[in-house]
Amino acid sequence: MDNVSFADLDLAPEILKSLTESGYLTPTPIQAQAIPKVLQGHDLMAGAQTGTGKTAAFALPVLQKLLPFASTSTSPARHAVRALILVPTRELAIQVEESVRAYAKHTHLRSLVVYGGVDIKTQTPKLKAGVEILVATPGRLLDHIEMKSVQLNQVQMLVLDEADRMLDMGFMPDLRRILALLPKARQNLMFSATFSGEIKKLSEEFLKAPVLIEVARSNATAENVVQKVYLVGHEDKHALLAQLLRGSDATQAIVFTKTKLTASRLARQLQREGVAADAIHGDKTQLERMQALDAFKTGKVSVLIATDVAARGLDIDHLPMVINYEIPHAPEDYVHRIGRTGRAGASGTAISLVAPEEERYLQEIEKLIKREIPKETSKLPPTPARPHAARVEHHERSYAPHPVSKHPSRDAWFDKPYEPSVRSTPTPAVEQPVSRPKTQMPALFMRRKTEDAA
Ligand code: AMP
Repeated sequence: MDNVSFADLDLAPEILKSLTESGYLTPTPIQAQAIPKVLQGHDLMAGAQTGTGKTAAFALPVLQKLLPFASTSTSPARHAVRALILVPTRELAIQVEESVRAYAKHTHLRSLVVYGGVDIKTQTPKLKAGVEILVATPGRLLDHIEMKSVQLNQVQMLVLDEADRMLDMGFMPDLRRILALLPKARQNLMFSATFSGEIKKLSEEFLKAPVLIEVARSNATAENVVQKVYLVGHEDKHALLAQLLRGSDATQAIVFTKTKLTASRLARQLQREGVAADAIHGDKTQLERMQALDAFKTGKVSVLIATDVAARGLDIDHLPMVINYEIPHAPEDYVHRIGRTGRAGASGTAISLVAPEEERYLQEIEKLIKREIPKETSKLPPTPARPHAARVEHHERSYAPHPVSKHPSRDAWFDKPYEPSVRSTPTPAVEQPVSRPKTQMPALFMRRKTEDAA
């Protein structure tokens, strides 16, 4: 499988052209395995995390199989929905459709994305004009079905992307309603980052003699991600997070919280401290979420605070660091979260701040990933860097089993004082071009105005 090229996969020249333009040289393992099977017409149950190239693994053969339906006609009747791609979140929907559109660039196949949280009326005319490939979140698709703005009786390929998350988010009843409207004779492709009894049941219900493909061990975490746990009192987490961001060489990080409230509070706190931070969670409007994501992608925001649901499926290249400010209670979410880093062979760091009351969830995570994550104790600086040092010390004492500041860190990386990195020189007089490579993004902790003035 190692030396397979896209041309070996029998893809059409117009699809190969778009891959070359996307800069893809060789198929990823999931692509090399899935594409031939899908082209042969098999149903598929694929275990693959985001970051493995799974989108192209289904999008490319879907496009190839639909090429005979490509048409330059403006008649909606000539553009029936032939492939339906269901995804759990709006952000993922947008990203998947962007990929489909890029790969379909040199064909006459049309694609469209529909998701909730935006005015349905803006989507209806485009849907009525006809599209071959429809990417949708389940709820909004049902709205369109009810409004009769879409017909699904020509669907011959169905993709369930991030099926595990769809179940987690309670989409099962919606899925059943949608699937009942599709023709029985169709090809089904299911992708899931984790395998559970529920997922197996779903695959038995919807897939016919599926080919099973797994690119990573089920529930495994990426091998190239360095994982670490910091045992720390809850009250010390903010100070430790600030220290980690300050001491990091990483250019960008996603920080996960359990609740929307913590995400917002943390973003505000970090902004006050000079970090270009923003939050992305379910209470934000679609526009705010897209703006925050865009700002993160272009490097204007260096720390994105996210809840699990909002961050699911985000495709952010070269993300070097993920920090779990609070660890998830569902161990599978840990796998999803750290899947944001260490993509496509790059190395990444995943740090979890674990308070004593969270340790039982940590044990669940270690059981799932079948490995123990190395533990560190944090060394927080004394006053005046920590305005609440007295309060914090009180809590450190109260967490006797985890002497947060009594033992020095075993990793010098975290002990070194903050030094502005080469990339965090004062803001240049001339603005950087927007298209600068991501590797040149500013360091996480921007210099405060007071420091610049000094
Ligand atoms: P995905 O797992 O589909 O979210 O893809 C993760 C990232 O890998 C995306 O940024 C894709 O554009 C990129 N990608 C997918 N396939 C390839 C490939 N064959 N070569 C290089 N990059 C790829």
